[in-house]
Amino acid sequence: MLEAYTLFSGSSGNCIFVSDGDTSILIDAGKSQRAIQTALCSLGRGLDKISAIFLTHEHSDHTCGLEVISKTYGIPVHITYPSYSNLVKADTFLSKCAEVHDVIYQVECGNLTIKSFPIPHDSAQNVGYIISNGESTLGIATDMGYVTERIASELSTCHKVIIESNHDIEMVKKGPYPPYLKERILSKNGHLSNEICAKLCVYLAECGIDQITLAHLSRENNTPDLAFDTSKKALDEAGHNVILRVAGPNTIVKAID
Ligand SMILES: [Zn+2]
Ligand SMILES: [Zn+2]
Repeated sequence: MLEAYTLFSGSSGNCIFVSDGDTSILIDAGKSQRAIQTALCSLGRGLDKISAIFLTHEHSDHTCGLEVISKTYGIPVHITYPSYSNLVKADTFLSKCAEVHDVIYQVECGNLTIKSFPIPHDSAQNVGYIISNGESTLGIATDMGYVTERIASELSTCHKVIIESNHDIEMVKKGPYPPYLKERILSKNGHLSNEICAKLCVYLAECGIDQITLAHLSRENNTPDLAFDTSKKALDEAGHNVILRVAGPNTIVKAID
């Protein structure tokens, strides 16, 4: 059975644990080794049982634990070439663990098949992942400036998804951020708003997806209730009964039942 937990989510760090019982992987390692190990231990798991780490992109909230984890465990780290060029320095432990790929790639890892797809964001590259064990399929897409046709169609093939619901547009506009940062967040290379996420939720529910976890919430420009209520209202109005969850910044949330 495929299982997934968001261990950390948001601008203070991101890490998702996915396992089918035999094969376990992480998507991103944007927290310290100690924090990730502690989170895994609370699930009865550990970094020594992780077969591979798959990176979405090179921003530090997705990568800051990698060098220490690479030094301690030597876990293979799958990364796209543009993110690798931007992030990885020669003679680092990470450079020895990195497995560099084209933007669109597919890897078989034990019982899991992991496939990437591009996501617009202000990084050298960003990708989402479709993870399948043959029975169940999980889609992951965060740090999304906007929802491309490709993103919508990739996610529509899944049974469960973890998608970004980063900010409330009005909170960004009225909030304390400097103008350049507001522009960045709201741009087509920024992050996905609650409002657009809600539309994506309705589309995915129409495609048959029955479990959605909202992730990468902004601490300054969103609240868990606001993110949840915005998508829940849209799903209710469209008549869809979907299990909707919100990933916390530091609380482990089960993304698949
Ligand atoms: Zn991020
Ligand atoms: Zn990012």
